Amino acid sequence: MGTSDPGKFISFINSKCPKCRTGDMFGNSTYSLQKEVLHKNCSHCGFRFERNLGYFEAAMYISYAYNVAIITAGSVATGVLTGSDDPLLYIYVIFILIFLFYPINLRYSKTSLLYLLGGEYARYDPGRRINGKEEKLTEIS
Ligand SMILES: [Zn+2]
Repeated sequence: MGTSDPGKFISFINSKCPKCRTGDMFGNSTYSLQKEVLHKNCSHCGFRFERNLGYFEAAMYISYAYNVAIITAGSVATGVLTGSDDPLLYIYVIFILIFLFYPINLRYSKTSLLYLLGGEYARYDPGRRINGKEEKLTEIS
């Protein structure tokens, strides 16, 4: 990795295109009140984020895993901090945490899908730049 290359972790946190780590995956901020805007293609390299039709449906499994982590961490923290054995307290805390983390979860489940499970398709390619040319949706046979 050269000195000018953006790091994988920083690019992931900033939801940059996994291919060039320059273009943005999303067109609005995480806690924007408008609907999440996931670009079709990277503005820098033309990389198509949705590998095939329904590709990001797999992100709901990652989202599920993130929610399990939030529930576990929230429950342990509530138990340690309050020492309470009232189940309602735990349920309230879990609902509040899931609600607060929902926009982050929604965004990073998709980003994770490309960065962690994208494989060869989403591998970092710093030299890649196809100005004005957009990749076509992969046909499913
Ligand atoms: Zn790109």
